[in-house]
Amino acid sequence: MSVEAPPEGASCAAHPEAAASWVCLRCGTFICPTCERRVRPEARPMCPTCWDLRSRVVPGQEGTSKSTVITGFVLGVLSVLPFCFILQAGAVIMNLVMMSRVEKTPELARLRWMPIAGLACSGLGFAITLLVWLLGGDLRD
Ligand SMILES: [Zn+2]
Ligand SMILES: [Zn+2]
Repeated sequence: MSVEAPPEGASCAAHPEAAASWVCLRCGTFICPTCERRVRPEARPMCPTCWDLRSRVVPGQEGTSKSTVITGFVLGVLSVLPFCFILQAGAVIMNLVMMSRVEKTPELARLRWMPIAGLACSGLGFAITLLVWLLGGDLRD
């Protein structure tokens, strides 16, 4: 009997009604076939909790996650608002950083447009600010 096999009659930690088929590679939790998460089909399975932790650790090591790129993009979109200089500066810096990081992270290649779109929005924000400021100046004169 191999070490990863749960004892006879053991049930899954998440599904008490299901018989455990494996012991989690990381934490030793009993898991049923529904709960099995594998890196490769031939790899030993992990429980869903350990799998989530694993997928969270990997982008962390890369320094960039999908949510960071999306945050940069949202900041960029918000920086269209005129006279939000702090927001605009923050969005520009964040999207410039994201642009270089997305280039280095193959999993994020599909999000490559986000920092660019974010920067475009910030540029538009600067343009609107300038326009409003110029028009405002004309009205005052
Ligand atoms: Zn586990
Ligand atoms: Zn289960």
